[in-house]
Amino acid sequence: MLALAASRIQSPLQSLIEKLNDVLSSTQTLQVRLTIAMKTLAQDMGADTAILYLLTPDHYLEVYACYDSVTPDHKKIRFRVGEGIVGLIAANGKSLICDNISRHPNFLHRPGIADQVNLSLLGVPLISSRGIIGVLNLQNPPSKPFEVWREKSLWEVGNYLGSLPDLDRFPALNSNDGKIEGVQTLQGTSFNPGIAIGTAVIHQPYSWKESAFCENTKDESERLKDAIRNMIESIDRLKETTPNLDKHTEDVLTSYQMIAADRGWVRKIQEYIQKGFAAEAAVQKVRRHTRERYAQIGDSILKGRLSDFEDLASRLLKHLSGKDAVSEDLPESTILVAQNLGPAELLDYDRRFIKGLVLEEGVHTAHVAIIARALDIPVVGRVPLLLSRVSAGDKLIVDGALGTVKVNPKSEDLLEAREKIVQLKKGQVINKELQDKPCVTQEGIPVTLTLNAGLPIDLHHLEELHFEGVGLYRTEIPFMMRSSFPDVKTQTEIYRDVIEQAKGLPVTFRTLDIGGDKVVPYMWRVQDENPVLGWRAIRVALDKPAILRQQVRALIRASEGQDLRILFPLVTDLTEYRDARQYVAQEWERAKQHQAVLPKSLSYGVMLEVPSIVDQLEPLLKEVDFISIGTNDLFQFYFACDRTNPTVSNRYDPLSTTFLKYLRNILYACNKAKIPVSICGEMAGKPMEALALLAIGFRNLSASGPSSGALKKMILSLPLKEASTFMEAALEDYAPTLRPALLDFAKKHKVFV
Ligand code: PEP
Ligand code: MG
Repeated sequence: MLALAASRIQSPLQSLIEKLNDVLSSTQTLQVRLTIAMKTLAQDMGADTAILYLLTPDHYLEVYACYDSVTPDHKKIRFRVGEGIVGLIAANGKSLICDNISRHPNFLHRPGIADQVNLSLLGVPLISSRGIIGVLNLQNPPSKPFEVWREKSLWEVGNYLGSLPDLDRFPALNSNDGKIEGVQTLQGTSFNPGIAIGTAVIHQPYSWKESAFCENTKDESERLKDAIRNMIESIDRLKETTPNLDKHTEDVLTSYQMIAADRGWVRKIQEYIQKGFAAEAAVQKVRRHTRERYAQIGDSILKGRLSDFEDLASRLLKHLSGKDAVSEDLPESTILVAQNLGPAELLDYDRRFIKGLVLEEGVHTAHVAIIARALDIPVVGRVPLLLSRVSAGDKLIVDGALGTVKVNPKSEDLLEAREKIVQLKKGQVINKELQDKPCVTQEGIPVTLTLNAGLPIDLHHLEELHFEGVGLYRTEIPFMMRSSFPDVKTQTEIYRDVIEQAKGLPVTFRTLDIGGDKVVPYMWRVQDENPVLGWRAIRVALDKPAILRQQVRALIRASEGQDLRILFPLVTDLTEYRDARQYVAQEWERAKQHQAVLPKSLSYGVMLEVPSIVDQLEPLLKEVDFISIGTNDLFQFYFACDRTNPTVSNRYDPLSTTFLKYLRNILYACNKAKIPVSICGEMAGKPMEALALLAIGFRNLSASGPSSGALKKMILSLPLKEASTFMEAALEDYAPTLRPALLDFAKKHKVFV
C-alpha cells in the first residue's frame, strides 16, 4: 500500500530515470541499450532527437547512441573537445540551452546528424567520478525550443548516465584544465582572414593590486624603487633603440625621464607607502592629487605636463604589476594570444612582430578586430578555453579564414600552411588586377568605394585600391596610439599628413569617438557601469568643448585651401548636432579673425548610430550635408545587443529583414532629401552584407583597405538588377536572417561572396 502511494507521488524525473534504468538493465549490448535509452529520453522530454556523445581515446566526442525521429540514418560524426557546441559543453563542463544553434558563436556544422543548421538544443556534460566522459544532447526544430526547467532534468539524467559502471571503459577529460597535450586544432570564429605561423605570446592584462594596503612597508618601498628603476631603464632603452625618433616623441620621453627621477613625485608616493598603502594605491593617490592641482591651473603648457604625469603613472603601474613594456623581446613572428584585448592594447605592441591574433572572446565588430583588419593581421576570435590550451612559446598556425588555430602543428601542417601563405600572396596579385578595374556591377552600375582609415598604415590602400576617398577617418586612433594628449600642433600635423596622402581625394574626418571600448589611457575617464551607453563620442566633446574646439582648430589648419568634411559620431539628438556645429562655427570664426587661410569648403555630416536620431531624420536632413551610417553601433543599439559581448553579439543578424528594411527606410529618406548617404560600419566591407546593401539601393560603401579586394570582386560579379528584384521580394516577408537565401542567390548567379 505504502509502495503504491510512493510510486504515485513519484516526480516525472524519477519516473524517467526508472524507465531508463529498466532499459539499461537488459542484457543487450551497451550500444543497443543506450540507443533505446535515447528514444525513451527523447519521447519523455518532448524532443525529436537525443544524442549521446562519448569521449574517444584521441579526445574526440563521438556519437555513440542516438535516436532521431526525423532522420534515422546517421554517420559517426565527431567533435574535438572545445569544437562546435558539443565540444564547448564538454570543455566548459556546463549545460547549454539555445533556441537556434546556428546563431551560437561556437556553432560548427558537421553534416551527418540532424542535418539542419537551424535547431534548438539542450545539452549537458556527462560527468563521471573521473571527469567528463561525454555530452548528452536533445534537439528540436526552433519552433519547439526547450524550456529552461528541462535543463535541470537533463542534467540529472546526465549524472545518472555518467555514473553507469558500463561507461567506465570510456576515457575521461582531464577535469583540471581541459588541456590536451600534443597537436590540437582549436576552432574559433573568423575575424580576419589570412594565415600566420608563429610563436604564442600570452597577453597579460595588467591589473592593479586589489588590496589597497601593504603588509610590509619596507618591502613595498623596495618594490616601488625596483619598478621605478625598471621604468627608467625601459625609457632609456626605448630612446636608444628607436631610430629616427621624432622631436615630439623625444621631448616626451625626456620629460618622462625627468619626472621619473623627480624626487618630489617619488617622495610623495613613498609617503603613502609609509602610511601603509600598497605601492599601486600610493601611485593612484598621487596621480589624483596631481590631477586636482593641475585642474586649477589655466596654463595650457603646464596642463600638457599633466598628461606626462598621467602616462608615467600608468607606466609605473604596469611595471609594478611586473609587466614591462609589452613590446620587449617579442619573437620575430608573434601570435598574440589573449582572453580579450582593447584596441589600444594591441597598438601597444610593436606591430612589426605581430603576425596573428587569437582571442578567447572578442567579436568581429569590436575595435580591436577593426584595427587588426587595418593592420592585415589574421585574427581568430572566440576560441573556447584558449588560455588553458595554449601556453607561451607554443608554435601556432592561425588560419583567419577558417577560424582555426593549430597548436604545436606537425611538420606537414607547417608545410601546408607555408604553401597556403604563398598561394595567398599570389592571390593578392590577382586581386590587384581587379583593383584597377572600375568599380561597377555586372550591368555597369557604379558603386562608390571609400576607405575606412585611422592608422598611418591605412592610407597606402587609397592609391593601391583606387578608393574614391576616405569615407571615415577615425581620429581617435592616433590618440589611442600616443602616450599623451596630442596638442593642436600635433593634431594639425596628423591631419595634414592624411590630407597629403589623400592627394586631393575627399577625406571625411570623424571627430573624436572615444569611450566605449576605445580607451585613451591618459584621459579622464568616467567609471561607466555601461561604457557603450555612457560617456563617449560626441557626449564627451560637448561636455569638454575644449577638446572638440582644439580638434576642429587643427582640422581647419590642416585643410587650408581644401574641402573639409567633418562627421560627428554617436549623435543621439538633433540638438547635439546643432551644438557641435556651433563649436565648429566658433573655430571657423576664430580662424577668420586670425586671417588664416581657410579650407575651400566645409561640410557637416552626422553618423547614424543611434535609433533616436534615425527618428529625427526629417529635420536633421535639412541641416546636414551628408549622412554616414555606422552600422556597428546602430545594430547594437537597434537590437539592444552589445557588440563587444560574444554571448549575444551573434544572436541577431544584420541580414534580418527588419534591420535591412530599417536601413532601406533611411536610404529612402536621404534620397528624398537629396542628401548623400554611405555605410561605414563593418557590414559594408563584408561581401554578403554588401550584396544586400547594394540590392536595397545603397551605392556608397566605406570599408577597410584589406577587406576591399573581396568586396570589389563581389561587386564586379553582381547582377544588381536581379539582386534588387530578389531583395524586394525577400523583404516582403519576415525572416530573422536572409543569409541562407542570399547565399543561394549568390551561388545561382555566381557572385563571389
Ligand atoms: C560604426 O559604429 O559602425 C562605426 C563605423 O563606428 P565605430 O566602429 O568606430 O564605432
Ligand atoms: Mg560607431
